[in-house]
Amino acid sequence: MKRIVIALDGFSGTGKSSTAKQVAEKLSYQYIDSGAMYRAVTHLFIEKKVDLTDTKSIEACLDDCEITFDREGVVLNGHGVEGKIRTMEVNKKVSAVSAISMVRRVLVEQQQKIGEGKGVVMDGRDIGTVVFPQADLKVFMTADADIRARRRMLELQSKGIEEDIEVIKHNLLQRDQADSTREDSPLKMAEDAVEIDTSNLTMEDQVKRIVDLAKERIHEG
Ligand code: C5P
Repeated sequence: MKRIVIALDGFSGTGKSSTAKQVAEKLSYQYIDSGAMYRAVTHLFIEKKVDLTDTKSIEACLDDCEITFDREGVVLNGHGVEGKIRTMEVNKKVSAVSAISMVRRVLVEQQQKIGEGKGVVMDGRDIGTVVFPQADLKVFMTADADIRARRRMLELQSKGIEEDIEVIKHNLLQRDQADSTREDSPLKMAEDAVEIDTSNLTMEDQVKRIVDLAKERIHEG
């Protein structure tokens, strides 16, 4: 059977990652969380105290940065960092790091390599526009900001992290703004993407909708 590339883009907190993971499971495809790659680099920059205006340090740091995935999530230079990349500290810095063209160049190349074999679901901000402009299925997910903030708060709580909902909402809106207005690969809907507003959808609904669309594309030829 034909194996396709599915690109899932959209704003923070729309449920992209959880949806993408479940879609990949249902199709027995590989799931790649591209946001986790930007978060892992941000975590590395924080640890190494990299000055974001210092091109040489950024370059040196990226040269020593290998990102892979295992069953637990993202792996940075051989160490699982999934538990360290979803903190508010990373949330606050990740948009600035992901706006750096050198960072994007390195990560987009790695993402394209992963997609070469097809049979992949990748979620992010520029997957349908830059990473896989030829993706067989592109979905753009949106949702009301209050609903997104509440979902993020519950996600953090499930990891034992308490954070004020207004602080979370402010960070989401700030990241939306920064991600949509940056010069390099801004977040925007690809012309041929299907838009899905997840505000009033259950996770089950949104997964089913995308799996149905994927099956249509798979059987198209
Ligand atoms: O998807 P997630 O919220 O984990 O992404 C974290 C951040 O990584 C985003 O706010 C954005 O700045 C950046 N990102 C990006 N391009 C992608 C995926 C994520 O710039 N493809």
